[in-house]
Amino acid sequence: MAATRALRIGLIPGDGIGREVIPAGRRILEALPASLGLKFSFVDLPAGFQTFKDTGAALPDKTVETLKKECDGALFGAVSSPTVKTPGYSSPIVALRKKLALYANVRPVKSIANATRPVDLVIVRENTEDLYVKEEKTYTDPVTNKRVAEAIKRISETATHNIATIAGEIAQKRQKIRDNGVPSIHSGPRVTITHKSNVLSQTDGLFREVSRAALAAFASSKPSVAIDEQIVDSMVYKLFRQPEDYDVIVAPNLYGDILSDGAAALVGSLGLVPSANVGKEFVIGEPCHGSAPDIEGKGIANPIATLRSTALMLEFLGADEAAARIYKAVDANLEEGKLLSPDLGGKASTDEVVNDILKKL
Ligand code: ATP
Repeated sequence: MAATRALRIGLIPGDGIGREVIPAGRRILEALPASLGLKFSFVDLPAGFQTFKDTGAALPDKTVETLKKECDGALFGAVSSPTVKTPGYSSPIVALRKKLALYANVRPVKSIANATRPVDLVIVRENTEDLYVKEEKTYTDPVTNKRVAEAIKRISETATHNIATIAGEIAQKRQKIRDNGVPSIHSGPRVTITHKSNVLSQTDGLFREVSRAALAAFASSKPSVAIDEQIVDSMVYKLFRQPEDYDVIVAPNLYGDILSDGAAALVGSLGLVPSANVGKEFVIGEPCHGSAPDIEGKGIANPIATLRSTALMLEFLGADEAAARIYKAVDANLEEGKLLSPDLGGKASTDEVVNDILKKL
């Protein structure tokens, strides 16, 4: 019998419904059958706005240290953003992406089988640069005597090569899963590069050129990935009219951010959409939704985004079979449609949805 693999997972619930859905991630990992050869241990770690209010640090050093020294992967819930400018506070997930070199944000968006509008795509968003380097300044124009604000948009060859490469790897992996008999709306793997190089010829021009060069290796290896490109504004239009045309989309940070929230609308609820923050050494699964203060404490948050994020984390930890089990159990719950949370038109509580999915696992 193959040796059991031990995986230690950091649990960072954060704020709001993060505290209600992250326990679901733990429960499903604990419920995976022993025959899969995985054994999990967990460590609870603080971060978020409440942690900031309690300790003065939104992301305590100890949390980062524990993740680096002890953990193989992590699950992150959500954080509340302060409604007024709060000196000293900055987003812990943005900091974690930097500190753990999580250069890719991977967001699969998938409709249930037989949906009237089938969607099965992954957005691969660059996570470290572009306008998010946050190098901004405001000055007074000496001619008009009015203020002008400027921001740096940085695109590097290295980060672009890395993000296009992981997009190519994901496209090939998705095709291998289809080749193993998992039904799909796509006939072959495709990566669509998104940019605005007709206007931003240097920054987005570099993104386009380097992505194309990196992806050429995936076009010429098996399974051969088709490469195309789309200007970001027409991408938004087409994504909403013909989402079934897209398999893997690779984008610089800002376009990726906007496209991924928009794509979540295609499948009905933010409560369904997972993500993973991926680096060469570490992965954090993170539901796409926020802390949802409007439903906090009511026990009705949809846990599926977190369960799918847990599966996605497992995929990047090389535990594909365990991930597939979770996806299948979640799909069975959605297709049956008997125990759905209120965001999907049902009446079930978070726990009832989780219990149903655990039964189907
Ligand atoms: P934040 O400031 O933390 O981003 P927000 O309310 O602005 O919070 P979200 O938390 O993403 O943004 O929520 C947007 C809407 O989607 C809210 O009405 C929320 O209740 C709903 N929502 C988000 N996640 C879920 C979920 N898991 N289950 C059910 N409804 C959800």
